[in-house]
Amino acid sequence: MNYSRRHLLQGSLAAGGSLAAFGDQHLAEELERKLRGRRPLGIVFCVSDGMSQGVLSMSEAFSQQVRSQGTVWWNLMSSQKAVMGLMDTASSSSLVTDSAAASSAWSGGQRIPNGKINVDEQGREIESLGETLEKSHLRLGLVSSATITHATPAAFAATVPNRGQEESIAEQYLNRVDVLLGGGSRFFDPKVRKDHQNLFEIFEKQNYQVIRTRNELLHSKSEKLLGTFSPGYLPYELDRKHDEELMKKIPSLAEMTEAALSRFLSSGDPFLMQMEGARIDHAAHQNDIGAILHEQLAFDDAVAKVLTLTAHREDILVILTSDHGNANPGLNGTGSSYRETNRSFSKVAEITRSTENFLSQCQQELRHSKLDLAEFFTSTYGFAPSANELDALMERLSGREVVEWSQQHKNSVGLLGQIVGNVTGVGWTGICHTADPTQLTSTGPGANQFAGLIRNDSVRDRLLRLLPI
Ligand SMILES: [Zn+2]
Repeated sequence: MNYSRRHLLQGSLAAGGSLAAFGDQHLAEELERKLRGRRPLGIVFCVSDGMSQGVLSMSEAFSQQVRSQGTVWWNLMSSQKAVMGLMDTASSSSLVTDSAAASSAWSGGQRIPNGKINVDEQGREIESLGETLEKSHLRLGLVSSATITHATPAAFAATVPNRGQEESIAEQYLNRVDVLLGGGSRFFDPKVRKDHQNLFEIFEKQNYQVIRTRNELLHSKSEKLLGTFSPGYLPYELDRKHDEELMKKIPSLAEMTEAALSRFLSSGDPFLMQMEGARIDHAAHQNDIGAILHEQLAFDDAVAKVLTLTAHREDILVILTSDHGNANPGLNGTGSSYRETNRSFSKVAEITRSTENFLSQCQQELRHSKLDLAEFFTSTYGFAPSANELDALMERLSGREVVEWSQQHKNSVGLLGQIVGNVTGVGWTGICHTADPTQLTSTGPGANQFAGLIRNDSVRDRLLRLLPI
């Protein structure tokens, strides 16, 4: 029995086929024929990194509020076309996974310790999806709003004992990944790399078009593409939107997604593409409700692009999920009989900066002794904090401890998240990843492979059963 046949049979069993059927040659061939007709040419694997359930439901309410329409993900979940599931997330070292172990579980098919990329407890290397696809000449694309060498995209194509080895990850992408779009130019740049290798030049010699700006992306023609639009992460969408220069230079996640996916769709070759909304996770670590909802809407716009580009096709499978929860934000009811809840939540729309941006401005102005915290806070968040809140925040910004019983919230971001939460109604469990299962929504041929509660380390087999390898 060849490799793909074995996978097809396992697939039919996992999809509900009878064990008694296994071994019956005639029935097996019939099952194989049936499945073959439903295999996709390409798979788009969309990751809202660190998205707890509350982010999805609040982004729906937020989208209704600020755009007078709901989100594409919510809409897909309520349609007949969607197959619903949950992702059981964990790593081999913890009930709570990090992105490196989570994406490695998807890619390598086994749980490994946090912090590693496709390397197990014993230090053995595990074959990534990218390596497997390379052997069968399938194309791979990675799109992310973090550095393109960050853990989630990296685990689909690279193997390193430590997720921080982003220079090595960048090298491993060469000729294994056809389209790379995101942040992280510093890991390709000879002026910044420790070994001074010019990866831009090396990629160019292998027929990649190397681009650095939004304009270059919109006019790019080449099949192979390396686009890095920032030395590190791309800016938060909330900050990008309020800065004309950033809008001009940095493409949106939807624009990068369109550039990557349209290439794969027009080539007609089988492919796998991972698209990651990476900074949803970062905003959750910072208890930043403004940034997280704008990031989730930017991710949703990218998903909308995927669904529009594939609407007339019956050969593309689209999967939406997250690698782990983070800080589990949720909207608390406020006021008598919760009648103030909607009004409280509507304050989120008035936030004009990310927490990251707000705190770095505060620190800068503090250094020059010209911080008017009350005024700056009010202009950023759209409401005036109480005198006590202001005092506590100033203490914290000056590096002093404030009374706080939750160890997770004992820092500037935790304190700020609670002050903003007092007005918006949004609460957070902490500032770390959480153990809950994540949402999983699929549509297209093979979507039923992703129904119900599935473990993150079973994703590799499910994808390989479907792809024409
Ligand atoms: Zn994280």
